[in-house]
Amino acid sequence: MAFKITEDCSACGLCEPECPSNSITEDEDIYVIDPETCVECEGHFDTQQCAEVCPVEACIPDPDHPKE
Ligand code: SF4
Ligand code: SF4
Repeated sequence: MAFKITEDCSACGLCEPECPSNSITEDEDIYVIDPETCVECEGHFDTQQCAEVCPVEACIPDPDHPKE
């Protein structure tokens, strides 16, 4: 499963440099996660770094992109 960023995102940018797979980019209003490259931080960290740093808890598991 990949993580995704909800509309609660305040575009603070904190999560972007924390992603070990560089899956987070700034979109028009909010930041977005590329589900093709998000590895849920597996092999890098024990917890999802985007969710750890997000001040508004906008980074959540994305049920539309389950693990293959
Ligand atoms: S869960 Fe990890 S790999 Fe996926 S977007 Fe967040 S920081 Fe990047
Ligand atoms: S840390 Fe949270 S609020 Fe900040 S850009 Fe990332 S998803 Fe958006």
